[in-house]
Amino acid sequence: MPMDSFPEMDSFNLENASLNVSNNGATSLATPSSSTSSRYENQKRRDWNTFGQYLKNHRPPLSLSMCSGAHVLEFLRYLDQFGKTKVHTFNCPFYGLPNPPAPCPCPLRQAWGSLDALIGRLRAAFEENGGKPEANPFGIRAVRLYLREVRDLQSKARGISYEKKKRKRPLANQTPTLPVPPPPPPSAS
Ligand SMILES: [Zn+2]
Repeated sequence: MPMDSFPEMDSFNLENASLNVSNNGATSLATPSSSTSSRYENQKRRDWNTFGQYLKNHRPPLSLSMCSGAHVLEFLRYLDQFGKTKVHTFNCPFYGLPNPPAPCPCPLRQAWGSLDALIGRLRAAFEENGGKPEANPFGIRAVRLYLREVRDLQSKARGISYEKKKRKRPLANQTPTLPVPPPPPPSAS
């Protein structure tokens, strides 16, 4: 059982991470943005620890310096077993439906948005923990391509577009030009 080798990962949940941050506002450092940034920092630390745990439990064990993009991809695939996002297979009658009317046996995966955010945090954590930017396994092309692939696959399977909606600004019609009235006819007097 591969699950047994990762006992601490059972509760790993990217989408509903419970943070034990008690911010009672007693410190003078509290600013309106501090709760957001400490939330991010906490999540980043948790992700980094999880990845470290993954490397430690890896067979054979891996050190960070040995870690390549291939291991990052392996890690992302491994996380899918804890996913909570239904991704319909091509054969499923609900393929492409954002709100399926009934349950189906399709697998649960990590949502693309969660993975994308996770990679961003790990990429930052890698360099904060002394990793060299040029050796950052989270920033390599293969990882970016994998994430793009997951995004395309999930957007088709779930009928959801991940493209950010562009706000159309009314440019041309903002200052409508009024038709110029014809010059008054020469007054015949
Ligand atoms: Zn399905």
